[in-house]
Amino acid sequence: MQVIEALEKKDKLVLSLEITPPDKGRSIEELFATLDLLMPFNPAFVSVTYHQAQVVYEEKDGVIYRIPKRKKPGTVGISAAIAHRYQVDMIPHFICGGFSKFDTEDALIDLHYLGITNILALRGDFPLGQKMFIPEKDGHRYAAELVQQIARMNQGQYLEALEDAQCTNFCIGVAGYPEKHFEAVNFEKDLEHLKEKVDQGAHYIITQMFFDFTVFKKFVERAREMGITVPIIPGIKPITRIRQIETLPRDFHISIPHHIVSAMEEAKTREEARKIGIKKTVELCRQLIDFGVPGLHIYTMGKGGATQALLQGLFG
Ligand SMILES: Cc1cc2nc3c(=O)[nH]c(=O)nc-3n(C[C@H](O)[C@H](O)[C@H](O)COP(=O)(O)OP(=O)(O)OC[C@H]3O[C@@H](n4cnc5c(N)ncnc54)[C@H](O)[C@@H]3O)c2cc1C
Repeated sequence: MQVIEALEKKDKLVLSLEITPPDKGRSIEELFATLDLLMPFNPAFVSVTYHQAQVVYEEKDGVIYRIPKRKKPGTVGISAAIAHRYQVDMIPHFICGGFSKFDTEDALIDLHYLGITNILALRGDFPLGQKMFIPEKDGHRYAAELVQQIARMNQGQYLEALEDAQCTNFCIGVAGYPEKHFEAVNFEKDLEHLKEKVDQGAHYIITQMFFDFTVFKKFVERAREMGITVPIIPGIKPITRIRQIETLPRDFHISIPHHIVSAMEEAKTREEARKIGIKKTVELCRQLIDFGVPGLHIYTMGKGGATQALLQGLFG
């Protein structure tokens, strides 16, 4: 099923889980173990992140070699393996970084042949050691351009003119930022760029994580005022460790409200901090459900335990 079909049915909250490929050399069984914990909650979709390779240069015998190192390969293979094992619909993430338009077209054809019809279209994070996003030669600079390429293939328009070309049928999701994307000059400009992605053909939006309901509400209200009408699914990160009060804002350019920070700081043990974090995340999800969100997208970050505790707290 496509994400937009599930959202439009409006008969139940659409639950999606985001997972990350294991580090290169590790086993996919780690992911299966995570999903074994979480599949009893009947997620409608599982999404798999995509990671751009870091390019390093190494010298040997006076020659400099360009070596791409991808820490977490396997997004498409993992998507196919999970769909096969759990009979669940997949959303592979798809990025601009590291792809020319021609690579993108070939990769989309692979997904089409695999019968995967959902894609989350992103620009992608820049790899470790890089200070800004550098598009590939003949690649896309912004996610809106990637959305446009996918939407064109949905109409049978490939990069070269092909006779009787088959239309793909991708349902396209894009990222939104309730606290603005860190590179955007301001919140309004970032929303304008979000609207460009929707105007190019995105069917729905999944947000970056946030911890304050009012931040999400303001984001949705302003998006609607600007004419963004597609469903907006909140991205939820269960918070469980005191350390995350520092690492999440630093790594994801988000803020954590004071009531959560002070409650976590009062915890005497790791277990107590975990309980407080899960309780706060459950409260946030309840506020969102009361507000009428069409779904919840949970960032599992490969660890099933925190997501399991959150879903137990929410749905029993
Ligand atoms: C749900 C979700 C899943 C994610 N999954 C992954 C993943 O799997 N792999 C990964 O590497 N990263 C992932 N990310 C992170 C994401 O790739 C980064 O946040 C990235 O920096 C921006 O991606 P984007 O698709 O939002 O980019 P864009 O929409 O292209 O926006 C990037 C920046 O450019 C600005 N901008 C857009 N268009 C223009 C324009 N025409 N002119 C000037 N400025 C413009 C925007 O305001 C924004 O500041 C995910 C993020 C979310 C929210």
